[in-house]
Amino acid sequence: MLAATLTWTRRLAAEQAPTEPRALAFRNLHTGEEVDVVYRADGQVDHGALREIDWVLRDFRTGEARPMDQRLLDLLWRLRVTLDTTAPYEVISGYRSAATNAMLARESRGVSRVSLHMKAMAIDVRLPDRPLMAVRDAALGLRRGGVGYYPASDFVHVDVGRVRWW
Ligand SMILES: [Zn+2]
Repeated sequence: MLAATLTWTRRLAAEQAPTEPRALAFRNLHTGEEVDVVYRADGQVDHGALREIDWVLRDFRTGEARPMDQRLLDLLWRLRVTLDTTAPYEVISGYRSAATNAMLARESRGVSRVSLHMKAMAIDVRLPDRPLMAVRDAALGLRRGGVGYYPASDFVHVDVGRVRWW
């Protein structure tokens, strides 16, 4: 109860402080690369920090990076605040080129041919210090887009498309 109250208080504080620095951290499980940056402070986006994030979240198969949708970054920032953690997201898949997505879709029925990963609007992640179900439930609670739960593969897909879940 106390933990829930603290989390709620923290979330309210974040909602009400638009100038609060927004930090994100990622570890790409395919490349081993990590990034831990403040991407927004004093209401200003740090474009250097965004480029660092884009690079770690690139299509590691082809080396292509795209600017990740800032709504997705804000969703991920708020998700960590909600879950009261500063652990890095462990990234299974961020941006995907059309070629990579087509290859993955051929190999797995779980991969959409019109995936929002190709628009840099989706990411597959887990948090090392939170149960996967907690990440899913928190993402569902934000109602900012799609949430897919993949316990067998140990990740949650979040995107900033329509609100939906599977
Ligand atoms: Zn996904």
